[in-house]
Amino acid sequence: MKLDSKYFDKIRIKTGPNKKEPPAPTMCEWPGCAKPSRHKAPKGRGAEGQFHNYCTQHVQEYNKTYNYFEGMKDDAVAGFQKDAQTGHRPTWKLGQNSYANINGMRRKARNVNDPYAMFTPSAENVNAKLGRALRKNEIKALNTLGLDETATSEKAKSQYKLLVKRLHPDANAGSRENEDTLKAVIHAYDTLRASGFC
Ligand SMILES: [Zn+2]
Repeated sequence: MKLDSKYFDKIRIKTGPNKKEPPAPTMCEWPGCAKPSRHKAPKGRGAEGQFHNYCTQHVQEYNKTYNYFEGMKDDAVAGFQKDAQTGHRPTWKLGQNSYANINGMRRKARNVNDPYAMFTPSAENVNAKLGRALRKNEIKALNTLGLDETATSEKAKSQYKLLVKRLHPDANAGSRENEDTLKAVIHAYDTLRASGFC
């Protein structure tokens, strides 16, 4: 039999799979659910860009229990949550007038600070001076100075000098109210110097 004969084509169409049938709709992945899927839900950390398919009811269930931190080390979660509580900004006790403009610095830190690099591609986190991503203690030190990890070495130096001037008892009528904060600032700067950032 010739394979291109009309007779053969006819048989083949009749007995082969019917290609005109629409593809089966994606079904909800929830165990036991038979509804069509209408929603995509992110699978989570480490599976970015991958999704579960759920119906309306089950995407809501899933969102309630969705845990981005699953599989993350406990101390990292605790650190992130602690930062989140304070809006990812330094938690230092403030003097009064000498610190009037700290709110501006806090706002800046809150807007761009992402200490665990969860929302920023890693290449952008490479520090130009060090040629690598900043370590947690370095970021923490910058935060203590009221800066975030995008701060330059020069900015950290000038900020350090400014803070020491403001916090020093000599600038506060001899008051030692800011002593703890001053110590934290000095320690932060030491950290940055030791790591080669400053
Ligand atoms: Zn469902």
